[in-house]
Amino acid sequence: MSQYLNACYTALEAYTPGEQPRDMQYIKLNTNESPYPPAPAVCQALDTAIVENLRLYSDPTCRNLKQKLADLYGVKPQNLFLTNGSDDILNFAFMAFGEKGAAFADITYGFYSVFADLHGIESDIVPLKEDFTLDYSDYCGRNKLIVIANPNAPTGMDIPLWQIEEILKTNPNNVVVIDEAYVDFGGNSALQLISKYENLLVTRTYSKSRCMAGARLGYAFGSEVIVADLEKLRYSTNPYNINSLTLKLGETTVDANDYYVDKCTEIIKTREFVAAELKKLGFAVLPSKANFVFAKSPTIKGADLYTALRKNGILIRHFNKDRICDYIRITIGTREQMETFISVITQIQQEAEK
Ligand SMILES: *Cc1c(COP(=O)(O)O)cnc(C)c1O
Repeated sequence: MSQYLNACYTALEAYTPGEQPRDMQYIKLNTNESPYPPAPAVCQALDTAIVENLRLYSDPTCRNLKQKLADLYGVKPQNLFLTNGSDDILNFAFMAFGEKGAAFADITYGFYSVFADLHGIESDIVPLKEDFTLDYSDYCGRNKLIVIANPNAPTGMDIPLWQIEEILKTNPNNVVVIDEAYVDFGGNSALQLISKYENLLVTRTYSKSRCMAGARLGYAFGSEVIVADLEKLRYSTNPYNINSLTLKLGETTVDANDYYVDKCTEIIKTREFVAAELKKLGFAVLPSKANFVFAKSPTIKGADLYTALRKNGILIRHFNKDRICDYIRITIGTREQMETFISVITQIQQEAEK
């Protein structure tokens, strides 16, 4: 740290992204990316003309993409907020609505506490129950910014819509963010509630179900008033936050929606296969509605399992954190990758039991 850094950031602990190693080819099951490429039309969407057009600024209103998403999801363009990855939406949401503090689970997406710290917002950490389920009543009348990943990460577990509705009703004076990064893999979306609750913000990403983590594109649905607040902050930060190549790819993705629905169905099938195989090996597997499973070996510590898998060319995510340090999070890859994963982990497990 230099002597020049603003003192308010000296204690800030940055988010640690999952590793993206370049030393060898791994079966990469550690950052919840899609194993599939984007739709064929998306892969071919960029031509010389659009690259030449990079001399111009991108459209700060993102008009075409907002219109396409609005049509697909049955909302108005004014209900949409677009950013450079959905982490960016979360950043703006904490900045905009966190004045009274922010409540979120102890076991959830690690970025929430980083954004709270970044903006000097008090974190109100709400522990999940012993079995990692979320008790919605903990959030009722909490009277501060509420952030819930649904399905949650890294557990993969979700809560039903009526519970979200109770949280919205009992917190009329603060914003409730429902982070739906994984909703396309079988969760229940709160999208339909935005017309009913002015205080709801639903966030989504192209990084997981849209096979485009590297393009950096996130979108959120909310009432016109909270979207306008977020726009004010975006225009005060970087109005050109989405580059024109990504905008074009995002539009083509909407046109190819069926392709992605198919791929999600594929991932869900493979997830159920992986969960069943792990259970046969004696693992505890949390019920997942996401593109990953969170599981605990009957005998091997999480950190050791991470190391053993890595030696065998398979990367998974391990969190060195209370309550979950014996679990590993496994992203669902292709069926073939997951068959390899199961055979490797079976061997590791058998060795350990000798
Ligand atoms: C991956 C993820 C995000 C954000 O992803 P972006 O790549 O920034 O769009 C947000 N929330 C959760 C819970 C995630 O797992």
